[in-house]
Amino acid sequence: MKLIADLHTHTIASTHAYATVTEMVNEASRLGLFSLAITDHARSMPGAPGPYYFESLCILPEYMNGVRLLTGIEANIVSYDGEIDCNDTLQHSLDWIVASMHTVTLRGKPTVEKCTHAYLRLAENPNVNVIAHSGSPYFKYDYETVIPKFAKEGKLIEINDSAFRYKKDNLPNCIKIAELCKKYGARVCVNTDSHFTHTLGRATQTLKILQEIDFPEKLIVNANTDTLKAYFKEKHISF
Ligand SMILES: [Zn+2]
Ligand SMILES: [Zn+2]
Repeated sequence: MKLIADLHTHTIASTHAYATVTEMVNEASRLGLFSLAITDHARSMPGAPGPYYFESLCILPEYMNGVRLLTGIEANIVSYDGEIDCNDTLQHSLDWIVASMHTVTLRGKPTVEKCTHAYLRLAENPNVNVIAHSGSPYFKYDYETVIPKFAKEGKLIEINDSAFRYKKDNLPNCIKIAELCKKYGARVCVNTDSHFTHTLGRATQTLKILQEIDFPEKLIVNANTDTLKAYFKEKHISF
């Protein structure tokens, strides 16, 4: 099993990532990926690009070097009501919206109840494609309540490979989340959240863990081109 798309990545526009769109796409092409989503951090993250950066992403071609380039954003969940820092116009104009909780952008001490409520509300936003790196122990939520809701609303639950590289304390939760996605038939995507080219498209450790728990390949949208194309069709994303 290997990735055919990386659906959460960053460029120099995030100002704490170190490759350009062209460099990221060229690496994706070299690896033979079908698609790459560029998802730089939305405005609440310190150093994030300004609004015109995201509004102008539409000038990029759909395909670069044979790779379907998705114009996206990593929106921050900025309240425990599940609001994100990406306005409606932008939510409609971009191809791909990843939403995540970060300690610097979600103020107020989290509790399981507050995080559960935030995710349940977020799940109702039809424009959000991916719930990113939700395995954080700090933002723990009630998995048994929220994961069936994500499944029902067609959200892709990300298993973020950076848990193996930088955030090892997230790992037990990531495995638990994957097990529950299997139990409830929730689709996942495995992403690298790469901030440079050398990790892009490489999620071998996450894929290995998923194989160990006998995770069904058909539930991983970016492990098979037909599965991802079916998801794109469902979301009216051209390819
Ligand atoms: Zn980042
Ligand atoms: Zn990210």
